Amino acid sequence: ARECGGNGYRHYASALSDYARERIVLIADLHRALAEDELVLHYQPQIDMRRGCVIGLEALVRWRHPQRGLLGPDQFIHIAEETGLIIPLGEWVLRHACRQALIWQAAGLPFGRIAVNVSGAQIQRRNPVETVAAILAETGLAADRLELEVTETVVMDLRQEAPAFLAGLKRLGIALAMDDFGTGYSSLAYLKGLPFDTLKIDKGFISGLPEDEASAAIVDAITALAGRLGFKVLAEGVETEAQRRFLLGVGCDLAQGFLFGHPAPAEETTTLLRQPATP
Ligand code: C2E
Ligand code: CA
Ligand code: CA
Ligand code: CA
Repeated sequence: ARECGGNGYRHYASALSDYARERIVLIADLHRALAEDELVLHYQPQIDMRRGCVIGLEALVRWRHPQRGLLGPDQFIHIAEETGLIIPLGEWVLRHACRQALIWQAAGLPFGRIAVNVSGAQIQRRNPVETVAAILAETGLAADRLELEVTETVVMDLRQEAPAFLAGLKRLGIALAMDDFGTGYSSLAYLKGLPFDTLKIDKGFISGLPEDEASAAIVDAITALAGRLGFKVLAEGVETEAQRRFLLGVGCDLAQGFLFGHPAPAEETTTLLRQPATP
């Protein structure tokens, strides 16, 4: 009974306390990160594959941790959400993304819209729409240059709060994208009542293209249905030329993924934006 020995339990207990200790350190570090500007945004292009141009840039947060190096959002966003730090973090991201968008705009670089991720906690706070409006006013970015992304799961979990939030953003003129579409069990009938402009098909459906028949059928059907319902459709996680060809074949023209560009710092993104469009 190797799982039942005293040692096994002790290992488990000490592993747990290591985890707890590490968590506490990370929470303290995250407070400092916000205070001392250790966060940084990378930007990933969203492409119109038919026209060969950039239609948007998604801002993706990273943390330049002084000891651990560059951390991805999967290593700290969940802690920010559990501790409420996602509120100041989310505001930091939105403010910096808007400021950077204005810099590109002033330089005459065509980036389309700047897309920013919104977490559930940001929707559940008091006056969530006013907070976004205040940051637009403070930075001076026009509302129609901003797109906010909310995951399908958050939209479904917050059926009480999400519709008013989305409607308020729409009234301001902000574009709306449903993120990770296909993973959250919403019905298209319910979706149709929400003011989304774009559905972003989750990369889980793209990775098996074009060979996997189920993925192919799903992506084909989503693209056709969403189009009929008046949504734009963007494929996430496009990595190969074969995926690109499949998507164009089913009429999904908008895409994001390593095939077109990895998320990169602002300076690198400026270089990308300076290159002429190539259809
Ligand atoms: P997401 O919003 O679905 O963002 C797309 C993720 O897919 C990014 O991971 C991006 O680097 C990755 N990706 C892009 N193209 C490809 C590809 O071709 N292949 C593969 N395998 N992956 C690709 P990242 O930057 O690690 O972000 C992970 C998640 O963290 C995001 O998923 C988003 O949910 C969250 N996140 C990132 N920044 C923020 C933020 O500022 N606020 C909030 N609330 N969440 C954020
Ligand atoms: Ca996103
Ligand atoms: Ca996504
Ligand atoms: Ca995701």
